[in-house]
Amino acid sequence: MQRLMHYIHGQWCPPASGEFLPVVEPATGEVYAEVGAGSSADVEAAVQAAQAAFPAWASMSVRQRAHYLLRIAEGIEARLALWAEAESRDTGKPLSLAQQVDIPRAALNFEFFATAIMQMASESYQTGTQAINYVLRQPLGVVACISPWNLPLYLFTWKIAPALAAGNCVVAKPSELTPMTATLLAGLCQEVGLPPGVLNIVHGTGSDVGEPMVVHPQVKAVSFTGGTRTGSRIAALAAPQFKKLSLELGGKNPTIVFADANYEQALEMSVRAAFRNQGEICLCGSRLLVEASLYERFKTDFVKKVQGLRVGDPLDPATDLGALISDAHRQKVLSYVALAKEEGGRILTGGKALELPGRCAHGYFMEPTVIEGLDAHCRTNQEEIFGPVVTLIPFNTEEEAIYIANATPYGLSASVWTQNLARAHRVAAAIEAGIVWVNTWMLRDLRTPFGGVKASGVGREGGFEALRFFTEPKNVCISY
Ligand code: NAD
Repeated sequence: MQRLMHYIHGQWCPPASGEFLPVVEPATGEVYAEVGAGSSADVEAAVQAAQAAFPAWASMSVRQRAHYLLRIAEGIEARLALWAEAESRDTGKPLSLAQQVDIPRAALNFEFFATAIMQMASESYQTGTQAINYVLRQPLGVVACISPWNLPLYLFTWKIAPALAAGNCVVAKPSELTPMTATLLAGLCQEVGLPPGVLNIVHGTGSDVGEPMVVHPQVKAVSFTGGTRTGSRIAALAAPQFKKLSLELGGKNPTIVFADANYEQALEMSVRAAFRNQGEICLCGSRLLVEASLYERFKTDFVKKVQGLRVGDPLDPATDLGALISDAHRQKVLSYVALAKEEGGRILTGGKALELPGRCAHGYFMEPTVIEGLDAHCRTNQEEIFGPVVTLIPFNTEEEAIYIANATPYGLSASVWTQNLARAHRVAAAIEAGIVWVNTWMLRDLRTPFGGVKASGVGREGGFEALRFFTEPKNVCISY
């Protein structure tokens, strides 16, 4: 069975503990690999490797650094087919999704930040005729990047690429549930000759590896994507050392459909927003708010479309929803369906675990689930479920839609459907979220700031925001 090792100082390293964790294929329920169970000793080795590599990497020309990143991007593109299979196997997501979204986007992340760093400028200010101020943007040193299991390589590289482009050395940890493509990335870095220590990958759990990374005094910044509770723990651990933090956390995002929306587009996209990647995307629209005058018609058509979605073997090109990440996670999602019933919700379709025939008989599949009849303030409508479950909520006025949209602790994204331009602007401005889409969902431009408000996090990724996060501004004032 394949054993995935740490990647430290350009070399494959077994875990200091000598122990390994099982890696399960969610579609079959079978253990198909093992991953090093890292510990603080491995983190220490990785931080020292990164620290040693830092002076040379930071003083390299921007063009040279960009060149390495572009070679990594090309390498990912050249391996798209194989890496998409690896990502699908590791996560349970449809292979088609990994081919179309996860792996191309990982390549694009490197390409984007390689070119962005070559365009980055800093400010300067003239003080009358006496002085000039200019701002140096210097890399921080060693930084930590910690990512979740739902979009493994996509989110891992979304952090690593800007950190490296800006001149930092990285100690990174993928989710212990999905370590495969991060390991493939390490192999690619070795192949393209990325200098040893510039990128180090330590595998293992959040408590054994993530926390030692966060508290390590030589780690200057932590870029984290994951659950809100974990984000809060990381913030508490990092605070005494005043580390820079970027926290991309959970969501409970509204899709808001007004009666004047383009009906077919709103219908199709709200199904996609609810169930893409089995609903395991932080940006998924898990609360579907529909104007009362449209509600019954929309509900009927929405449920019909959801019933037409195919849950199946991730390798089957016809599959819309693959397996959930783990049995434990499926149990959690199902427990929310039970809670919804207790809270008075009606299950319009789905709600149950699914047993598939053949190779996937022991996989973690679940029916796409639609629930109505719940109050906006009940737990089902307040807490992140992170699975194929959406609730339908009718509203009467624009004010009520905005009120319900904002009535959760989260504030990551929203998708608003209307053909009334003035309303689109009003609602977009009033919604408490880092990202509002109007008449679309998950359309991304990597130059835009990405992140959440309230319990969805602090800081922004993307574009120059990410490059600013991974650098420290230093103002130099020269009198003349
Ligand atoms: P998680 O918080 O359990 O784990 C995320 C990562 O943090 C993993 O690598 C994990 O090992 C590590 N970790 C866990 N405990 C830690 C600790 N105490 N210290 C340091 N690291 C620790 O999240 P998950 O279950 O892997 O991912 C799902 C969550 O991620 C959902 O809440 C989802 O909304 C969120 N998410 C947010 C975004 C975003 O951009 N806002 C994107 C994707 C996923």
